[in-house]
Amino acid sequence: MQTDRPLLTPAIFCLAILSLLAAATAAFCQSAVAPDSDSSRTHELVTANHILADQGILDGFGHVSFRSVKNPSHYFMAWARAPGAIEADDIMEFDENSNPIDPKGRKPYSERFIHGEVYRLRGDVQAIVHSHSRTIIPFSVSDVPLRPVSHMAGFLPQRVSVFEIRDAAGADNQMLVNSQAMGAALAKAMGLDSVILIRGHGDVVTGQSIRLAVMHAIYTEFNAQIEMEALRLGLVTYLNPTEAANVAVINDAAVDRPWEIWAQHASTLAAVRH
Ligand SMILES: [Zn+2]
Repeated sequence: MQTDRPLLTPAIFCLAILSLLAAATAAFCQSAVAPDSDSSRTHELVTANHILADQGILDGFGHVSFRSVKNPSHYFMAWARAPGAIEADDIMEFDENSNPIDPKGRKPYSERFIHGEVYRLRGDVQAIVHSHSRTIIPFSVSDVPLRPVSHMAGFLPQRVSVFEIRDAAGADNQMLVNSQAMGAALAKAMGLDSVILIRGHGDVVTGQSIRLAVMHAIYTEFNAQIEMEALRLGLVTYLNPTEAANVAVINDAAVDRPWEIWAQHASTLAAVRH
């Protein structure tokens, strides 16, 4: 004999509630992941500044920027402040000619034209680091080229070009890329490469994200240190083009791993400073 059972038993009711809660939690977690925007990139740029300072790639000088999501001909970077001290309020928007949109009396970096002109020529680039990273400079003033020798530096060109500032500004120059014309000459010399050296000055490093530009800047310095040591020992074996291309894909895909520890280390030091 069939008994009349209620359609909604306590057990089914509880299961239904749990399912609804799980769905709501999943939706909340999804909405908690910030979409890619100028605002989310601004916060990441602050961390990038701190990491690059903490890792010794930037000191009181040098800068990092990102391409605007909202207006891809524009870019964002800090005003002329030391990278280790930069906060979100220091980040300013620049137009396609590297004019600050709303400077509020703040002085921009004189070499911001590096960023503006590389973004203009390179639609694939989303972030740029300009540094005076110590070990790369000898390769910009000697006849020994910077080449990929470490498996962490497959993104480097087979022979990193050197921008000769005299070619663009003559012998009486300031050793700076501090005009639109100089920035355009540098961007042209860089072409499709990920990195270029500036003779007696530093480098320009690109990435398809802020995290990748930071990782490339750190490993450009790392590769220069290893190459320098290896050259002291004797004949050096470099990555061939296929090896370089293969490891570049693998390493770029893993960028979040070193980023987490670099950010943690930079924030620990910042907390100590405060
Ligand atoms: Zn510089």
